[in-house]
Amino acid sequence: MAGNAKGVEFDEAGIDFESRLMTGAETEEDSAVELTLRPQTLSEYIGQEKAKEHLAVYIEAARQRGEALDHVLLYGPPGLGKTTLSGIIAHEMGVELRVTSGPAIEKPGDLAALLTNLGEGDVLFVDEIHRLSRAVEEVLYPAMEDYALDIMIGKGPSARSIRIDLPRFTLIGATTRAGQLSAPLRDRFGVVMRLELYTPEELATIVRRSAGILHISCADDGALEIARRSRGTPRIANRLLKRVRDFAQVIGDGTITSALAREALSKLDIDPLGLDDIDRRMLRVIIQHYGGGPVGLETLAAAVGEEAVTLEDVYEPYLMQIGFLARTPRGRCVTPGGYEHLGLPMPAQAPAETTEQQKLF
Ligand code: ADP
Repeated sequence: MAGNAKGVEFDEAGIDFESRLMTGAETEEDSAVELTLRPQTLSEYIGQEKAKEHLAVYIEAARQRGEALDHVLLYGPPGLGKTTLSGIIAHEMGVELRVTSGPAIEKPGDLAALLTNLGEGDVLFVDEIHRLSRAVEEVLYPAMEDYALDIMIGKGPSARSIRIDLPRFTLIGATTRAGQLSAPLRDRFGVVMRLELYTPEELATIVRRSAGILHISCADDGALEIARRSRGTPRIANRLLKRVRDFAQVIGDGTITSALAREALSKLDIDPLGLDDIDRRMLRVIIQHYGGGPVGLETLAAAVGEEAVTLEDVYEPYLMQIGFLARTPRGRCVTPGGYEHLGLPMPAQAPAETTEQQKLF
Protein backbone atom coordinates (compact mmCIF):
# COMPACT_ATOMS: atom_id res chain seq x y z
CA MET A 1 0.00 0.00 0.00
CA ALA A 2 1.59 3.28 -1.05
CA GLY A 3 0.44 6.88 -0.71
CA ASN A 4 -0.02 9.13 -3.73
CA ALA A 5 0.40 12.88 -4.00
CA LYS A 6 -3.13 13.59 -2.76
CA GLY A 7 -2.64 11.32 0.22
CA VAL A 8 -5.30 8.85 -0.93
CA GLU A 9 -4.22 5.26 -0.43
CA PHE A 10 -3.76 3.14 -3.52
CA ASP A 11 -2.66 -0.44 -3.82
CA GLU A 12 -0.25 -1.79 -6.45
CA ALA A 13 -2.96 -1.98 -9.09
CA GLY A 14 -3.67 1.71 -8.54
CA ILE A 15 -7.14 1.04 -7.15
CA ASP A 16 -8.45 3.45 -4.54
CA PHE A 17 -8.65 1.39 -1.35
CA GLU A 18 -11.93 2.83 -0.09
CA SER A 19 -13.73 2.08 -3.35
CA ARG A 20 -12.44 -1.50 -3.07
CA LEU A 21 -15.05 -1.99 -0.39
CA MET A 22 -17.64 -2.42 -3.09
CA THR A 23 -15.79 -4.49 -5.69
CA GLY A 24 -15.70 -8.26 -5.67
CA ALA A 25 -11.91 -8.30 -6.10
CA GLU A 26 -10.09 -10.02 -3.26
CA THR A 27 -7.97 -8.02 -0.80
CA GLU A 28 -5.42 -9.32 1.70
CA GLU A 29 -7.84 -8.76 4.56
CA ASP A 30 -10.45 -10.86 2.75
CA SER A 31 -8.17 -13.82 2.18
CA ALA A 32 -7.35 -14.14 5.87
CA VAL A 33 -11.02 -14.30 6.94
CA GLU A 34 -12.25 -16.15 3.87
CA LEU A 35 -10.44 -19.28 4.92
CA THR A 36 -12.74 -19.59 7.92
CA LEU A 37 -15.87 -18.54 6.02
CA ARG A 38 -15.56 -20.82 2.98
CA PRO A 39 -18.25 -23.50 2.91
CA GLN A 40 -16.80 -27.02 2.64
CA THR A 41 -19.72 -28.96 1.17
CA LEU A 42 -22.32 -28.41 -1.54
CA SER A 43 -25.07 -28.32 1.08
CA GLU A 44 -23.37 -25.44 2.91
CA TYR A 45 -22.94 -23.52 -0.35
CA ILE A 46 -25.84 -21.10 -0.54
CA GLY A 47 -27.65 -20.22 -3.79
CA GLN A 48 -26.50 -21.08 -7.35
CA GLU A 49 -29.12 -23.83 -7.25
CA LYS A 50 -28.80 -24.85 -10.89
CA ALA A 51 -25.02 -25.11 -10.80
CA LYS A 52 -25.18 -27.06 -7.53
CA GLU A 53 -27.82 -29.45 -8.81
CA HIS A 54 -25.84 -30.26 -11.95
CA LEU A 55 -22.53 -30.56 -10.10
CA ALA A 56 -24.03 -32.93 -7.54
CA VAL A 57 -25.00 -35.27 -10.40
CA TYR A 58 -21.64 -35.04 -12.17
CA ILE A 59 -19.74 -35.61 -8.91
CA GLU A 60 -21.86 -38.61 -7.97
CA ALA A 61 -21.54 -40.12 -11.45
CA ALA A 62 -17.75 -39.65 -11.54
CA ARG A 63 -17.42 -41.15 -8.06
CA GLN A 64 -19.51 -44.17 -9.00
CA ARG A 65 -17.34 -44.78 -12.04
CA GLY A 66 -14.17 -44.18 -10.04
CA GLU A 67 -13.09 -41.53 -12.54
CA ALA A 68 -11.85 -37.95 -12.29
CA LEU A 69 -14.53 -35.32 -12.77
CA ASP A 70 -14.65 -33.75 -16.23
CA HIS A 71 -12.89 -30.37 -16.58
CA VAL A 72 -15.05 -27.49 -15.34
CA LEU A 73 -15.10 -23.86 -16.44
CA LEU A 74 -16.69 -21.43 -13.98
CA TYR A 75 -17.37 -17.90 -15.08
CA GLY A 76 -18.92 -14.82 -13.57
CA PRO A 77 -17.94 -11.60 -11.77
CA PRO A 78 -15.34 -11.73 -8.96
CA GLY A 79 -16.39 -12.73 -5.44
CA LEU A 80 -19.29 -15.00 -6.44
CA GLY A 81 -17.77 -18.19 -5.08
CA LYS A 82 -15.72 -19.75 -7.90
CA THR A 83 -12.72 -20.62 -5.69
CA THR A 84 -15.07 -21.81 -2.96
CA LEU A 85 -16.90 -24.08 -5.37
CA SER A 86 -13.65 -25.69 -6.57
CA GLY A 87 -12.69 -26.41 -2.95
CA ILE A 88 -16.09 -28.03 -2.49
CA ILE A 89 -15.71 -30.12 -5.65
CA ALA A 90 -12.32 -31.40 -4.46
CA HIS A 91 -13.74 -32.10 -0.99
CA GLU A 92 -16.78 -33.94 -2.35
CA MET A 93 -14.60 -35.96 -4.73
CA GLY A 94 -12.24 -36.77 -1.84
CA VAL A 95 -9.16 -35.43 -3.65
CA GLU A 96 -6.58 -32.70 -3.18
CA LEU A 97 -6.99 -29.15 -4.50
CA ARG A 98 -4.08 -27.18 -5.98
CA VAL A 99 -4.71 -23.49 -6.52
CA THR A 100 -2.93 -21.27 -9.02
CA SER A 101 -3.75 -18.53 -11.50
CA GLY A 102 -3.22 -17.70 -15.17
CA PRO A 103 -0.65 -14.94 -14.60
CA ALA A 104 1.29 -17.11 -12.10
CA ILE A 105 1.98 -19.79 -14.75
CA GLU A 106 4.57 -17.88 -16.74
CA LYS A 107 6.25 -20.64 -18.75
CA PRO A 108 5.21 -24.05 -20.10
CA GLY A 109 7.68 -25.51 -17.59
CA ASP A 110 5.71 -23.99 -14.67
CA LEU A 111 2.59 -25.76 -15.86
CA ALA A 112 4.48 -29.02 -16.42
CA ALA A 113 5.76 -28.86 -12.83
CA LEU A 114 2.25 -28.32 -11.48
CA LEU A 115 0.73 -31.11 -13.56
CA THR A 116 3.38 -33.72 -12.81
CA ASN A 117 2.94 -33.11 -9.08
CA LEU A 118 -0.80 -33.86 -9.12
CA GLY A 119 -2.16 -37.06 -7.62
CA GLU A 120 -4.75 -39.30 -9.31
CA GLY A 121 -8.10 -37.44 -9.58
CA ASP A 122 -6.77 -34.20 -8.03
CA VAL A 123 -8.27 -30.82 -8.87
CA LEU A 124 -6.10 -28.08 -10.34
CA PHE A 125 -7.82 -24.72 -9.96
CA VAL A 126 -6.60 -22.00 -12.33
CA ASP A 127 -8.04 -18.59 -11.52
CA GLU A 128 -8.09 -15.95 -14.27
CA ILE A 129 -7.56 -18.67 -16.83
CA HIS A 130 -8.13 -16.19 -19.66
CA ARG A 131 -4.72 -14.75 -18.83
CA LEU A 132 -2.71 -17.89 -19.71
CA SER A 133 -0.12 -17.28 -22.40
CA ARG A 134 -0.47 -19.00 -25.78
CA ALA A 135 2.63 -21.13 -25.14
CA VAL A 136 1.21 -22.39 -21.83
CA GLU A 137 -2.18 -23.05 -23.42
CA GLU A 138 -0.55 -25.28 -26.04
CA VAL A 139 0.83 -27.49 -23.26
CA LEU A 140 -2.54 -27.58 -21.58
CA TYR A 141 -4.44 -29.01 -24.57
CA PRO A 142 -2.94 -32.54 -24.59
CA ALA A 143 -2.88 -32.48 -20.79
CA MET A 144 -6.64 -31.87 -20.66
CA GLU A 145 -7.51 -34.19 -23.51
CA ASP A 146 -5.14 -37.14 -23.21
CA TYR A 147 -3.63 -36.62 -19.73
CA ALA A 148 -0.22 -36.32 -21.34
CA LEU A 149 2.56 -33.78 -21.67
CA ASP A 150 4.52 -33.40 -24.89
CA ILE A 151 7.98 -32.15 -24.10
CA MET A 152 10.56 -31.07 -26.68
CA ILE A 153 14.09 -32.19 -25.99
CA GLY A 154 16.99 -30.51 -27.72
CA LYS A 155 16.95 -27.89 -30.43
CA GLY A 156 17.22 -27.73 -34.21
CA PRO A 157 17.24 -30.86 -36.39
CA SER A 158 18.02 -33.19 -33.48
CA ALA A 159 15.08 -31.96 -31.42
CA ARG A 160 12.55 -34.64 -30.56
CA SER A 161 9.37 -34.75 -28.59
CA ILE A 162 8.70 -37.15 -25.75
CA ARG A 163 5.34 -37.82 -24.16
CA ILE A 164 4.92 -38.07 -20.38
CA ASP A 165 1.76 -39.56 -18.94
CA LEU A 166 -0.05 -37.56 -16.29
CA PRO A 167 -2.47 -38.68 -13.61
CA ARG A 168 -6.13 -38.24 -14.52
CA PHE A 169 -6.95 -34.84 -13.05
CA THR A 170 -9.72 -32.26 -13.14
CA LEU A 171 -8.92 -28.78 -14.32
CA ILE A 172 -11.23 -26.11 -12.94
CA GLY A 173 -10.78 -22.84 -14.75
CA ALA A 174 -12.28 -19.63 -13.39
CA THR A 175 -12.71 -16.45 -15.34
CA THR A 176 -14.63 -13.22 -15.22
CA ARG A 177 -14.68 -13.17 -19.00
CA ALA A 178 -15.58 -16.39 -20.78
CA GLY A 179 -15.59 -14.51 -24.08
CA GLN A 180 -11.85 -13.91 -23.84
CA LEU A 181 -10.99 -17.60 -23.67
CA SER A 182 -9.63 -19.01 -26.90
CA ALA A 183 -12.09 -21.36 -28.62
CA PRO A 184 -9.80 -24.45 -28.43
CA LEU A 185 -9.40 -23.98 -24.68
CA ARG A 186 -13.11 -23.38 -24.07
CA ASP A 187 -14.01 -26.48 -26.08
CA ARG A 188 -11.91 -28.70 -23.85
CA PHE A 189 -14.08 -28.07 -20.80
CA GLY A 190 -16.80 -30.70 -20.46
CA VAL A 191 -18.76 -28.61 -17.97
CA VAL A 192 -19.24 -24.85 -18.39
CA MET A 193 -21.11 -23.01 -15.65
CA ARG A 194 -22.04 -19.41 -15.24
CA LEU A 195 -22.35 -18.20 -11.66
CA GLU A 196 -25.17 -15.69 -11.14
CA LEU A 197 -25.33 -12.68 -8.84
CA TYR A 198 -27.09 -13.66 -5.58
CA THR A 199 -30.50 -12.45 -4.44
CA PRO A 200 -30.69 -10.31 -1.26
CA GLU A 201 -32.34 -13.26 0.55
CA GLU A 202 -29.49 -15.61 -0.38
CA LEU A 203 -26.93 -13.01 0.68
CA ALA A 204 -28.77 -12.50 3.98
CA THR A 205 -28.39 -16.25 4.63
CA ILE A 206 -24.67 -15.96 3.85
CA VAL A 207 -24.35 -12.95 6.21
CA ARG A 208 -26.14 -14.83 9.01
CA ARG A 209 -23.90 -17.85 8.48
CA SER A 210 -20.73 -15.71 8.51
CA ALA A 211 -21.93 -13.79 11.59
CA GLY A 212 -22.39 -17.14 13.36
CA ILE A 213 -18.88 -18.30 12.48
CA LEU A 214 -17.28 -14.98 13.45
CA HIS A 215 -19.38 -14.69 16.66
CA ILE A 216 -21.00 -11.45 15.55
CA SER A 217 -24.41 -10.67 16.96
CA CYS A 218 -26.57 -9.84 13.94
CA ALA A 219 -30.37 -9.56 13.82
CA ASP A 220 -32.17 -10.99 10.77
CA ASP A 221 -33.22 -7.55 9.54
CA GLY A 222 -29.64 -6.31 10.04
CA ALA A 223 -28.38 -9.17 7.86
CA LEU A 224 -30.94 -8.33 5.17
CA GLU A 225 -29.94 -4.65 5.21
CA ILE A 226 -26.28 -5.62 4.61
CA ALA A 227 -27.37 -8.14 1.96
CA ARG A 228 -29.37 -5.56 0.00
CA ARG A 229 -26.32 -3.35 -0.30
CA SER A 230 -23.84 -6.07 -1.30
CA ARG A 231 -24.28 -5.95 -5.09
CA GLY A 232 -25.28 -9.60 -5.31
CA THR A 233 -21.76 -10.62 -4.21
CA PRO A 234 -20.92 -12.81 -1.16
CA ARG A 235 -17.40 -11.40 -0.83
CA ILE A 236 -18.81 -7.86 -0.51
CA ALA A 237 -21.48 -9.08 1.95
CA ASN A 238 -18.83 -10.62 4.20
CA ARG A 239 -16.69 -7.50 3.95
CA LEU A 240 -19.57 -5.17 4.83
CA LEU A 241 -20.50 -7.44 7.74
CA LYS A 242 -17.05 -6.87 9.23
CA ARG A 243 -17.17 -3.10 8.73
CA VAL A 244 -20.68 -2.82 10.19
CA ARG A 245 -19.61 -4.93 13.16
CA ASP A 246 -17.04 -2.22 14.01
CA PHE A 247 -19.79 0.41 14.04
CA ALA A 248 -22.05 -1.84 16.11
CA GLN A 249 -19.29 -2.19 18.67
CA VAL A 250 -18.41 1.50 18.85
CA ILE A 251 -21.66 3.39 18.28
CA GLY A 252 -24.18 0.67 19.19
CA ASP A 253 -24.50 -2.07 21.77
CA GLY A 254 -22.61 -4.66 19.71
CA THR A 255 -25.64 -6.06 17.88
CA ILE A 256 -26.18 -5.38 14.18
CA THR A 257 -29.78 -4.22 13.80
CA SER A 258 -31.26 -2.87 10.57
CA ALA A 259 -31.11 0.73 11.87
CA LEU A 260 -27.48 0.34 12.86
CA ALA A 261 -26.59 -1.31 9.53
CA ARG A 262 -28.31 1.53 7.65
CA GLU A 263 -26.44 4.17 9.63
CA ALA A 264 -23.06 2.46 9.29
CA LEU A 265 -23.46 1.81 5.56
CA SER A 266 -24.51 5.36 4.79
CA LYS A 267 -21.48 6.60 6.73
CA LEU A 268 -19.45 4.37 4.38
CA ASP A 269 -21.15 6.10 1.43
CA ILE A 270 -22.91 2.96 0.28
CA ASP A 271 -26.42 3.76 -0.83
CA PRO A 272 -29.53 1.63 -0.11
CA LEU A 273 -28.99 -0.44 -3.25
CA GLY A 274 -25.26 -0.89 -2.71
CA LEU A 275 -24.21 1.62 -5.37
CA ASP A 276 -20.95 3.39 -4.65
CA ASP A 277 -19.41 6.52 -6.01
CA ILE A 278 -18.24 4.93 -9.27
CA ASP A 279 -21.67 3.45 -10.08
CA ARG A 280 -23.30 6.81 -9.52
CA ARG A 281 -20.63 8.57 -11.54
CA MET A 282 -21.17 6.14 -14.45
CA LEU A 283 -24.92 6.72 -14.49
CA ARG A 284 -24.54 10.48 -14.08
CA VAL A 285 -21.97 10.77 -16.88
CA ILE A 286 -24.23 8.87 -19.29
CA ILE A 287 -27.21 11.05 -18.36
CA GLN A 288 -25.52 14.43 -18.20
CA HIS A 289 -22.96 14.12 -21.00
CA TYR A 290 -24.57 11.67 -23.37
CA GLY A 291 -28.30 12.33 -23.00
CA GLY A 292 -28.85 8.99 -21.24
CA GLY A 293 -26.96 6.99 -23.90
CA PRO A 294 -26.13 5.06 -25.92
CA VAL A 295 -22.46 5.64 -25.24
CA GLY A 296 -19.58 3.29 -26.06
CA LEU A 297 -17.75 1.52 -23.21
CA GLU A 298 -14.34 3.07 -23.94
CA THR A 299 -15.77 6.59 -24.06
CA LEU A 300 -17.60 5.98 -20.81
CA ALA A 301 -14.49 4.57 -19.14
CA ALA A 302 -12.45 7.62 -20.15
CA ALA A 303 -15.14 9.97 -18.85
CA VAL A 304 -15.44 8.13 -15.52
CA GLY A 305 -11.67 7.70 -15.16
CA GLU A 306 -11.74 3.90 -14.77
CA GLU A 307 -10.47 1.02 -16.89
CA ALA A 308 -13.03 -0.28 -19.39
CA VAL A 309 -12.52 -3.87 -18.14
CA THR A 310 -13.24 -2.80 -14.56
CA LEU A 311 -16.48 -1.15 -15.60
CA GLU A 312 -17.46 -4.16 -17.66
CA ASP A 313 -16.53 -6.89 -15.14
CA VAL A 314 -17.19 -5.24 -11.81
CA TYR A 315 -19.73 -2.45 -12.18
CA GLU A 316 -21.97 -3.25 -15.13
CA PRO A 317 -23.24 -6.72 -14.11
CA TYR A 318 -24.89 -5.35 -10.97
CA LEU A 319 -26.23 -2.18 -12.62
CA MET A 320 -27.79 -4.37 -15.30
CA GLN A 321 -29.13 -6.84 -12.75
CA ILE A 322 -31.01 -4.10 -10.88
CA GLY A 323 -32.20 -2.69 -14.19
CA PHE A 324 -30.43 0.69 -14.15
CA LEU A 325 -28.25 0.11 -17.18
CA ALA A 326 -28.88 -1.54 -20.53
CA ARG A 327 -26.33 -2.73 -23.06
CA THR A 328 -27.44 -2.12 -26.62
CA PRO A 329 -25.49 -2.81 -29.81
CA ARG A 330 -24.74 0.93 -29.95
CA GLY A 331 -23.57 1.35 -26.36
CA ARG A 332 -24.71 1.73 -22.78
CA CYS A 333 -28.01 3.43 -21.84
CA VAL A 334 -29.41 4.47 -18.48
CA THR A 335 -32.93 3.17 -17.88
CA PRO A 336 -35.80 5.14 -16.32
CA GLY A 337 -35.06 3.32 -13.01
CA GLY A 338 -31.52 4.71 -13.07
CA TYR A 339 -32.80 8.28 -13.55
CA GLU A 340 -35.24 7.82 -10.71
CA HIS A 341 -32.62 6.43 -8.33
CA LEU A 342 -30.37 9.43 -8.89
CA GLY A 343 -33.34 11.82 -8.59
CA LEU A 344 -32.72 13.15 -12.10
CA PRO A 345 -35.61 13.93 -14.45
CA MET A 346 -36.00 11.92 -17.66
CA PRO A 347 -35.64 14.23 -20.67
CA ALA A 348 -39.13 15.45 -21.63
CA GLN A 349 -38.44 15.39 -25.36
CA ALA A 350 -36.84 12.07 -26.14
CA PRO A 351 -33.86 12.59 -28.44
CA ALA A 352 -33.73 10.31 -31.49
CA GLU A 353 -31.37 7.92 -29.71
CA THR A 354 -33.57 7.39 -26.69
CA THR A 355 -36.36 6.16 -28.89
CA GLU A 356 -34.29 3.05 -29.48
CA GLN A 357 -33.57 2.92 -25.77
CA GLN A 358 -37.26 3.12 -24.91
CA LYS A 359 -38.07 0.24 -27.18
CA LEU A 360 -36.17 -1.87 -24.69
CA PHE A 361 -38.58 -1.21 -21.82
P1 ADP B 1 -14.35 -15.98 -6.42
O1 ADP B 1 -13.38 -17.11 -6.51
O2 ADP B 1 -15.51 -16.13 -7.36
O3 ADP B 1 -13.72 -14.62 -6.53
P2 ADP B 1 -14.63 -16.87 -3.66
O4 ADP B 1 -14.91 -18.32 -3.87
O5 ADP B 1 -13.25 -16.51 -3.22
O6 ADP B 1 -15.02 -16.02 -4.95
O7 ADP B 1 -15.71 -16.36 -2.59
C1 ADP B 1 -15.56 -15.17 -1.87
C2 ADP B 1 -16.10 -15.32 -0.46
O8 ADP B 1 -17.51 -15.41 -0.51
C3 ADP B 1 -15.62 -16.57 0.28
O9 ADP B 1 -15.10 -16.18 1.52
C4 ADP B 1 -16.82 -17.40 0.58
O10 ADP B 1 -16.85 -17.65 1.96
C5 ADP B 1 -17.99 -16.52 0.25
N1 ADP B 1 -18.94 -17.25 -0.57
C6 ADP B 1 -18.95 -17.29 -1.93
N2 ADP B 1 -19.98 -18.03 -2.39
C7 ADP B 1 -20.64 -18.45 -1.30
C8 ADP B 1 -21.82 -19.25 -1.12
N3 ADP B 1 -22.49 -19.71 -2.18
N4 ADP B 1 -22.22 -19.52 0.12
C9 ADP B 1 -21.54 -19.02 1.18
N5 ADP B 1 -20.43 -18.25 1.09
C10 ADP B 1 -19.99 -17.97 -0.13
